[in-house]
Amino acid sequence: MNNTDYDLVIIGGGPAGLTAAIYAARARLKVVILEKSAPGGQILVTDWIENYPGFPEGLTGSDLVEKMTAQARRFGAEIETNQVLALDVAESVKRLTLNDRVVTTKAVIIATGASPRKLGVAGEESFYGKGISTCATCDAPFFRNSVVAAVGGGDTAVQESIFLTRFAKKVYLIHRRDQLRATRILQERVRENDKIEIIWDSVVTSVNGSESGVESISVKNVKTGDQRDLAVEGCFIWVGILPNTSFLKDTVTLDKGGFVVVNSRMETSVPGVYAAGDVRNTPLRQVATAVGDSAIAAFEAAAYIEAMENH
Ligand code: NAP
Repeated sequence: MNNTDYDLVIIGGGPAGLTAAIYAARARLKVVILEKSAPGGQILVTDWIENYPGFPEGLTGSDLVEKMTAQARRFGAEIETNQVLALDVAESVKRLTLNDRVVTTKAVIIATGASPRKLGVAGEESFYGKGISTCATCDAPFFRNSVVAAVGGGDTAVQESIFLTRFAKKVYLIHRRDQLRATRILQERVRENDKIEIIWDSVVTSVNGSESGVESISVKNVKTGDQRDLAVEGCFIWVGILPNTSFLKDTVTLDKGGFVVVNSRMETSVPGVYAAGDVRNTPLRQVATAVGDSAIAAFEAAAYIEAMENH
């Protein structure tokens, strides 16, 4: 068992992956994070994080990522830009196929997170990047003094709609029910914000426009069946997330939604393979829970590796 490239490979470099790397490197494991783009994951596009303890004034997602990355590197974790295309975890030596090579490892932590879900309506694909966005931090400045729509009723839709009002003159928040899913403090803030008009019980049926971009959205009231068009220059879609698990194929057990099933030790159905953060079956997806998951996963991975080596 000593001839592997790494003791531990962490797939994904968001808060979960970075935390696992900090713990694993401090346990003196040879550890690498494989991240297909830049470290940070979804919080890179989060304007402001105010519920992560230790930062009473809050901080930007990118600031938090920078601090976590520096901390992981300080203890000797490697961070490599590379994509895991497939993994073979049937044997005790696990083999991961990357873009350019195959690496071997004793243990794996899956921390690939989740990506924004799409609406699946007409116009969505063609106007993506031309008025449709899932990132207010990236795109809100393009909509200074504009009227825009935001779709969804969860924490992301509500928090990011509030952020949009720093730029847009009006935000229609379109939600399919008559009650928001978002946490209470965000609900209070959205009600107090007079630039946001909530369109209740309604779904977007199409995004319409021309060569120059989005011009309107068609909205249907699900209770009355009434249809109308709202003139908007932008449409932000925040209707939940889908796990980044397609590369796992049949390697570990997934739940109905495609999230990795783990127990309280973050163990998947395969010995030596763990999952942490948004990618796993969890009742709460926060930086704080991702960090907690990953501390457990790294601790368990270290114990697993030690037991294998002493066997
Ligand atoms: P979410 O909590 O799953 O909410 C998705 C929202 O989109 C729901 O309101 C849902 O409506 C609506 N929706 C789903 N499919 C739809 C469709 N096809 N058409 C129209 N509406 C649709 O997702 P999220 O807001 O992205 O949050 C994901 C996770 O990150 C959550 O655990 C959240 O708490 C966390 N998060 C936390 C913070 C924070 O703490 N500040 C910030 C951002 C995200 P229904 O309500 O009717 O189901």
